[in-house]
Amino acid sequence: MTTTQARKRDDRVAMRTERWNFLGACSVVPSRSGRCPARRLRDRQENGEVIDVMVWEAAREQATKLRQEHQTSDPYVIARELGLDVIETVTPVGMAGMIVKKRGEAAQIFIDSSDVPGRRRFTCAHELGHFVERENIARDDDFSFRDERGGRYDLHEFFADEFAGELLMPAHDFERLEREGATTTTIAHTFGVSTTAVERRRDRLRKNPARSWV
Ligand SMILES: [Zn+2]
Repeated sequence: MTTTQARKRDDRVAMRTERWNFLGACSVVPSRSGRCPARRLRDRQENGEVIDVMVWEAAREQATKLRQEHQTSDPYVIARELGLDVIETVTPVGMAGMIVKKRGEAAQIFIDSSDVPGRRRFTCAHELGHFVERENIARDDDFSFRDERGGRYDLHEFFADEFAGELLMPAHDFERLEREGATTTTIAHTFGVSTTAVERRRDRLRKNPARSWV
């Protein structure tokens, strides 16, 4: 087994392990359909479908809720309105960003100031996703995440990426631009993100279209 294969296997094990944390916490995730997300998940598991359904669903719901409450997609504005400190600074080599939350203190988001604006914006949204998952879903008041480029990927990262994707590139707006024939560059410019972020969002929406599970 190559190092890459071993790492992918380890990541799959981590994803399966993390799943129970989300299952345990999911009862506090609001559901528009009125059905418990955990129940929906169990229904799907019986058909061999797995956990990421509930995670991306919860992430997108949380992002939509915040965007509506704060009336903006700007992660910097939302983070500051929620009382977080956002600091753009020189980070250790290979680190795009991190979030640190100590009990009873304001969370701090650190972003690599050498990244281009679109990338920094996505990092801010991603770190905000970690905050939302820990605070709103897991009810955790003491946590930290370091985001290394090419680092390990688990359900926390999956949630944060889905959250950031939905916050910055709302599914319905994204799909409308695609229908209108907008190029990747135009979509990236419209949402203020990198073309890489647009390509990833496109892949994720193709895999899990908005509300396809209803
Ligand atoms: Zn992360």
